[in-house]
Amino acid sequence: MLKKDQIKNLLHVHAVFSISLFLFTGCGDFKKDGNAPSMSFELPSTTTPPAAAPTKEEELAQLTLAFKTRYTASFSYVIDFKPSSYMNSGGGGGTVVGVCEVYSDGSKQIHMNQDWWPTATQLKKMVLAFHELGHCYFQRAHDSRTYSGGRPYSMMNPIVDPVAFYFSAYSAYYLDELKNPMALSIQNYPITYKTYSDGFCDEEF
Ligand SMILES: [Zn+2]
Repeated sequence: MLKKDQIKNLLHVHAVFSISLFLFTGCGDFKKDGNAPSMSFELPSTTTPPAAAPTKEEELAQLTLAFKTRYTASFSYVIDFKPSSYMNSGGGGGTVVGVCEVYSDGSKQIHMNQDWWPTATQLKKMVLAFHELGHCYFQRAHDSRTYSGGRPYSMMNPIVDPVAFYFSAYSAYYLDELKNPMALSIQNYPITYKTYSDGFCDEEF
């Protein structure tokens, strides 16, 4: 189960299903070629090429920096990407998109699903990154409570999509709510939090 010989004493796993929208936020980086008319144009020498889209590693680094800045946080976790085959190992049947692992020596790692990442909106990537850091940095567990009407109580909702749906209108609330550190209340390790496509949240001890 473990890739390292470390004893994993706490594992938070959660999943997101993008059951809804695929928003193509057109990056407008189209390139035409072929069948050009015989005219040619010299681009002004002052024209700068369009900025290259950030890599997923750069996006994740930017989100990590945003978290550190927002909460004056300092940490140096391994934060990287893993394929779905890694993320979904252990079964469960759902798509695990992020995981925070806490080891008995106190070290922590965050892994993002590299197959899900390119399909997600910027907002969902941000919610997921802050959610995982909520596990690892603030020691938050999942919080499935919702207000009447369905708005999640916390960014620690085990499914990212509903948080992303309400985030823009309640961003200050969610960012403030996230920062309340919690002591680890469970002392029996390992602990695994998993969430699957139907929103079923399973806490395994
Ligand atoms: Zn989680």
